[in-house]
Amino acid sequence: METTIMTATKVHNFSAGPSILPQEVLQKAAEACTNFAGTNLSLLEVSHRSKEVVAMADNATALVKELLDLPNDYDVVFLQGGASTQFLMVPFNLLKSKAAYVNTGAWSTKAIKEAKGMGTTEVIASSEDDNFTYIPKGYTIPADTDYLHITSNNTIYGTQYQNFPESNIPLVVDMSSDIFSRQFNPNQFSLIYAGAQKNMGPAGVTLAIIKKGVLGKTERKIPTMLNYQTHIDKESMFNTPPVFAMYVSMLTMEWLKNNGGVAWVEARNKQKADMLYGELDSNPLFVTTVKPEDRSRMNATFLLKDNSLEEEFNKLVKEANISGLKGHRSVGGYRASMYNALPPESVQVLVDVMKEFGRKFG
Ligand code: PMP
Repeated sequence: METTIMTATKVHNFSAGPSILPQEVLQKAAEACTNFAGTNLSLLEVSHRSKEVVAMADNATALVKELLDLPNDYDVVFLQGGASTQFLMVPFNLLKSKAAYVNTGAWSTKAIKEAKGMGTTEVIASSEDDNFTYIPKGYTIPADTDYLHITSNNTIYGTQYQNFPESNIPLVVDMSSDIFSRQFNPNQFSLIYAGAQKNMGPAGVTLAIIKKGVLGKTERKIPTMLNYQTHIDKESMFNTPPVFAMYVSMLTMEWLKNNGGVAWVEARNKQKADMLYGELDSNPLFVTTVKPEDRSRMNATFLLKDNSLEEEFNKLVKEANISGLKGHRSVGGYRASMYNALPPESVQVLVDVMKEFGRKFG
């Protein structure tokens, strides 16, 4: 029997995360719930040590390496605990005497808090002075730090690094909300981590990419499950990994590869962001919240100039079957998240709604 997911009306899903996944991925994931890899068993009821699941995990690892063009001296592991556990694992594994952080928003702030419990933590730059509406630039990175931690895309505030800081100290990056969305040079980073639930797959699995040679320097006793080496040594199979989330991530990465990889999606993401920011800049009823040069292509944050029109705009948004546009409480207004799987047509629908709103109330 063929399983098809039917949505009665097309919903344009701008959710900030968990967020839109490709429709074909959802269909294949549904199939695997009843018949995984021709076993006539559900993926939810087979051993993670079965040959089919091990092959799936190997394929997921290989796809990460291929899509990100990772050199051989990087290990890829799939973990649990979300990116929030990475806030702790990073200092546990890397912080010997001092760590440097750039604070660009709520997620950086949380990462800093965890590091502070682990050793000297210096916030060398911050945009908190202006409610995180920009990416700090032109700061000095101290040479005596074990690593510098940044958040490449700030999901809540809608800012994104266009260029990453350059220095000789190991660079650690939280790429939870923009991994696989644009090309970058992996050699710039010693450690990359990302919760899956935006561009990679569903919630429940966390990706970590670790450069060989950066671990084992802290002389700290690291609890087994929080030690990256545990998971590297056992190829993400030290304990039961989140197999279903890994499978859906693997399918999403296959979707990306089959469509042309990160280069393809980067061009598509640029096109989508240009469409939306173009409208926001020309429509007098809206105002964007961040410095234009630091705008995120993943999460566009904006406000209405006249709040008394909120109900009218929300009505048009609803009628157009647009979902997930409400802004985060710390910014207010609206946030349009345009992750990889969001088709340009959905952005066009939102732009059309804004135009109509402009005609009616401008
Ligand atoms: N970092 C960033 C940039 C995020 O956007 C999020 C969550 N959306 C997190 C970290 C926290 O991730 P998790 O919920 O997987 O712990």
